[in-house]
Amino acid sequence: MAETPKLNISKSLEIYNEACSLIPGGVLGARRPADFINGEYPIFLDSGKGCRLTDVDGNEFIDYLCGYGPIILGYREEEVDEAVYEQIRNKGFCFSLTQQFQNALARKIKARVPSAEMSIFLKTGSDATTASIRIARAYTKKLKVMRCGYHGWHDWCVEMKGGIPSKFYEDVFEFTYNRLDQLEELMAAHGNETAAVIMTPFGHPNHQEMQEPAPGFLEGVKKLTHQYGAVLIYDEIRTGFRVTLGGAQQYYGVTPDLSVLGKAIANGYPISVVAGKEEIMMAAASKLFISSTFFPNSDAFVAALKTIEILERDKVLEDIWEKGEAFMRRIRQMLDTYDVGAKLTGIPPMFYITFNKDASGDYKGKRTDFYTQLIRKGFFFTPYHHAYISYRHTEEDLALTLKAIDESLAFVKEKYRRIR
Ligand code: PMP
Repeated sequence: MAETPKLNISKSLEIYNEACSLIPGGVLGARRPADFINGEYPIFLDSGKGCRLTDVDGNEFIDYLCGYGPIILGYREEEVDEAVYEQIRNKGFCFSLTQQFQNALARKIKARVPSAEMSIFLKTGSDATTASIRIARAYTKKLKVMRCGYHGWHDWCVEMKGGIPSKFYEDVFEFTYNRLDQLEELMAAHGNETAAVIMTPFGHPNHQEMQEPAPGFLEGVKKLTHQYGAVLIYDEIRTGFRVTLGGAQQYYGVTPDLSVLGKAIANGYPISVVAGKEEIMMAAASKLFISSTFFPNSDAFVAALKTIEILERDKVLEDIWEKGEAFMRRIRQMLDTYDVGAKLTGIPPMFYITFNKDASGDYKGKRTDFYTQLIRKGFFFTPYHHAYISYRHTEEDLALTLKAIDESLAFVKEKYRRIR
């Protein structure tokens, strides 16, 4: 299988060079070239429509990153955008007092998300995870936190500790997904001082294969958390309104006390949610302060209401599951056939092709080669983050993608047969 020629990303690189003198690192965090494959991926996009992206050099891609999760319908989804434009044009969206949409959205979330009796609306996932911890601490009057998964960039949970005094995170302990024994040990030591256990109900640790809960894991965590009087929080920033309309908690049948939602709820507009049991949520009414200039802006509320309306009306998530199941089945068959040490994990709405670590270290090269072939062919997957499917991926898009995956695997197979 011939190597696919490199993309022309000269305009991206030109903009990036200037950006490096204007913005530290050129672009922020997870958008940096090193988080993809340096020199192979575009750095700046120009536009998107449906499941397709165009970069500043005019390269086109079928996209599987979906804006890192918010794009559940597709880019530039007209019905959602039109609803927002109408609000902006006819009423306005940024005021000193709250517009009326919060009640409608809170009602909708209450109807859909098993743990949701009351909701608070914020902007980012980090806003919401941090608010949920503050609510749990105020409610329990305890300090410590057990966490499992990525919860954003704030002081208490970010991996890179630069600039953060250790006292801001020294009461936060991490456990591994599906390792109830680790949480048991932590709780045996700190359970009586623990305010919250926060975790992703579906395992999607950064850069690692995805994991469904082992039998009894979610139930065990819930029991243990409650045994010590702590609050169980599900971080459903990625899984909310994507796995099911009620999130992964509905899919796996275990209901937490609080849930944190965001990303897919508004198809790209910034809004996040802390939702949960009234008794706990009411701590936010009198014991603490959550407020920010942009939190009540109605553009994102309108987008969320319209997005949920479409998700319900068009049975979007059912469609994604159906397409995704067939897609994953085919990928799995190819991985078996080519046998290059790659593995597919996850569930149809969010899945990941990873390469098994091997003693020779070849897996890193294989991973780079595989994802390099895909991006060059016009398929935007990334080696260090799982993929998503959106509503606007058609059967034809998926078929084209399967062909590209097949060819990329064939390339890897041949190259490493020659090398070894
Ligand atoms: N929790 C999870 C599970 C996430 O995936 C993310 C974002 N990737 C966050 C929290 C933080 O959200 P944000 O980047 O919007 O602050």
